[in-house]
Amino acid sequence: MSQQPKAPSLLAQYPEETREAADLLKHAVPLMMRHQIPPNPVHYALWYTYSQGNNPDLNRRLDKVVSDFDIFPPETALKLFRDHIIREELEDARIGQQQVIELVDDIEGDVSRSVEGSQAYQASLSSGLDALREPLDENLPNVLNELQQSTQLMQDQQEKFLYRLRNAQTEIQHLRTQLERAHMAATLDNLTQVFNRNAFSRLLEQALKTDHQGLALVMMDIDHFKQFNDQYGHPLGDRVLQHVGQLLRDLLPPRAMAARYGGEEFCVIMRDCYDLETAHAFAERLRLKIKALRVKVRSTDKVLDTITASFGLALAQAGDDPEALITRADDAMYQAKRNGRNQVHPPFPETALIA
Ligand code: GH3
Ligand code: MG
Ligand code: MG
Repeated sequence: MSQQPKAPSLLAQYPEETREAADLLKHAVPLMMRHQIPPNPVHYALWYTYSQGNNPDLNRRLDKVVSDFDIFPPETALKLFRDHIIREELEDARIGQQQVIELVDDIEGDVSRSVEGSQAYQASLSSGLDALREPLDENLPNVLNELQQSTQLMQDQQEKFLYRLRNAQTEIQHLRTQLERAHMAATLDNLTQVFNRNAFSRLLEQALKTDHQGLALVMMDIDHFKQFNDQYGHPLGDRVLQHVGQLLRDLLPPRAMAARYGGEEFCVIMRDCYDLETAHAFAERLRLKIKALRVKVRSTDKVLDTITASFGLALAQAGDDPEALITRADDAMYQAKRNGRNQVHPPFPETALIA
């Protein structure tokens, strides 16, 4: 099979900072409009990558498609997306699948050989038995000899089979670890180690499908984070986000899931949460822990700054789809911002006054 050159991993293909990315989109969107290409995530990804100009092959193929067709064929877009944007991810999955097929194929071969061996052994035992039923004569040593040999052969085969099975077990364990790692990498946010947005969407949809009762959504957004970045730089901002991710993971109630919804915005899906008060108690604990974080100069331990976050809560209701629930939690979060930030909305009288 011919080896395709390995594409860089998906995220590494898009290292642009916000401004640079915005410039690329400013270039990509008019191109899409000029060629009447419908705006959807596949097309955005293709034309964004086109505007980056790092993939001349993709650019050549896109140029050719727009010159050959009046309307950009959706199946061509999908093929280009698979070939150029997510090739490595598909390739990894294919390799994993191939390894499992080879392993199962090997074991199947061993099992067949073992079954054949057992049948041969059975045949040899029964012919030995027949011979033994005949009057005992000088042939007896030969019969016993043959039986001994085939028993030895059988034993050897079984030992080899057992050895292969043990090896296969180790290989399966190894493959499982690899697949679990790949799965985690695909669902976790790199920086904060909580779920990423894609995983969050899937989890929320599933949670609402299974049962909307006892489900609450907490949206959280760090206050004035742009200002923080502007003042101390993006790398320090990133470290703050990492700490916030850590706090989220540490404080998460049982059966709750935390995700990075976007830049400095996080959300938590709470299960077994039947009233806003329970969600409020959790958000409030998190708010206080975030407020207690100290951004320090490493060499002197001098405290540079603190951060705060605003929270919005929503309880799932019958008939809610993810969008409806997210919108309510988001609206509540913006209300917390409007009310002066560093607070949870809706408030509860006994906790609302804790500064
Ligand atoms: P507000 O209190 O209204 O939320 O103000 P804000 O400045 O936090 O809100 P805004 O949405 O204007 O800015 C969000 C900022 O978050 C912009 C960007 O600098 C920062 N940000 C987003 N993602 C990242 C990231 O991955 N790392 C860092 N360091 N900063 C990020
Ligand atoms: Mg913010
Ligand atoms: Mg924000």
